[in-house]
Amino acid sequence: MARIDAARDAFARHRWKGAPLVACDAAAGPREERVNPAIPSDIVGSVTWATAEQATAAAAAAQPWDASAAERARILNAAADLYEDHFGELFALLHREAGKTLLDAVAELREAVDFLRYYATQAEGGVPRGTFACISPWNFPLAIFTGQLSAALAAGNAVLAKPAEQTPLIAWRATQLLHEAGVPATALQLLPGAGDVGAALTSCPDVDGVAFTGSTETAQAIHRAMAENLAPGAPLIAETGGLNAMIVDSTALPEQAVAAIVESAFQSAGQRCSALRCLYVQEDIAEDFLKMLTGAMDVLVMDNPWNPATDAGPVIDEEAAEGIRAYVAKARKEGRVIKELHAPAPGHFVAPALLRVPGIKAMEREIFGPVLHVATFGSEELDRVIADINATGYGLTFGLMTRIDDRVQHVTEAVHAGNIYVNRNQIGAIVGSQPFGGEGLSGTGPKAGGPHYLSRFRAQPADE
Ligand code: ADP
Repeated sequence: MARIDAARDAFARHRWKGAPLVACDAAAGPREERVNPAIPSDIVGSVTWATAEQATAAAAAAQPWDASAAERARILNAAADLYEDHFGELFALLHREAGKTLLDAVAELREAVDFLRYYATQAEGGVPRGTFACISPWNFPLAIFTGQLSAALAAGNAVLAKPAEQTPLIAWRATQLLHEAGVPATALQLLPGAGDVGAALTSCPDVDGVAFTGSTETAQAIHRAMAENLAPGAPLIAETGGLNAMIVDSTALPEQAVAAIVESAFQSAGQRCSALRCLYVQEDIAEDFLKMLTGAMDVLVMDNPWNPATDAGPVIDEEAAEGIRAYVAKARKEGRVIKELHAPAPGHFVAPALLRVPGIKAMEREIFGPVLHVATFGSEELDRVIADINATGYGLTFGLMTRIDDRVQHVTEAVHAGNIYVNRNQIGAIVGSQPFGGEGLSGTGPKAGGPHYLSRFRAQPADE
């Protein structure tokens, strides 16, 4: 795997000026141009969209991957090699289509490669279910896309991959590399399209299971569609949203906490499922702590992701940008803005903002952007804060900053969250050793990148 300096060179070689257009011709529907979220004049390429009818026909034609487990493992590893060989090109697409910074692109490619290699080690054992629909989001258009399909393929299933409509081109290049590595076209087909293509797949009786990452509302719609149309017992493996909180008490090391918070809330322009949304600071340190936090925000660099110094790039598209700007504008009217930066233009940039809230209960929904909410709590209120966090019904990530050992144990046992981070940034997962996944409204489990994830892609003894 490339080191960061080699990565930077490769990134530069694939600069957007003069880079070739990428044409995704996977489907027969209407063609549309795709543009860079940071540079609206940069046309990245074009895509032909699949139709709902094409999705249904693809499900009827899909064939489970007829290869031995050892052969499947070899081919998934060969695909991982190809991803690594094409890293400059994949970074460029992650930047140009999804607005990823260099560091985010490097981490994402690493994660995608890790998924391929990790699931390859689990190819042995079990019987495939048949055909899986893998429906992925735009925020990790390479890693989540690859993670879902490599798990389904490792278990021997056929895959119909439906990437998010915002990021079909990176999915297209990844699919080409998987085919080049030896995954047959009958076992892996890309269906670029919007929600209607996803809905066609999840209502089609030829589909035997669904892997989904996206919003909680869409997961609920898929659950209903599957119950009506798919065979009983067809699994839905869902990773959804969160209202992720962090508690900082008065014993926390403030420098460490501030650095971790800025990263957790604003890196990737807040477009991570794991991102910190609601920060609770103990009231006796709140004033000084917030001064430090707003000072740290002042030096955040928001710019084109080509700039290696960029901390936060654009959000995915203008619709997302407008929604977040309107949310912050409302808070501004209500006098709840503690700090707001300036966003560059043009491009779909949204200024990072810090907003005051009475508590997590006041947050109606996940705002998928660089917006951090802050509340304070008194020394007797810790258990009430934990109860409020649990009462959201979500349970994806949670962070704690404290130097009281007993408190670490008490709080981490009491909070319901799939991934808990103590005295560190609230970001990330490590395929194989630190799997990622939520509870409650945040997901169904098992965790992606963990030892049990593949089990639901296999027929269970009761189904055979
Ligand atoms: P996000 O808010 O991250 O865009 P969505 O849940 O809207 O989350 O989208 C995640 C993925 O689900 C995308 O690939 C999207 O096209 C797909 N999708 C949207 N609506 C449906 C649906 N009704 N059925 C199946 N897939 C859908």
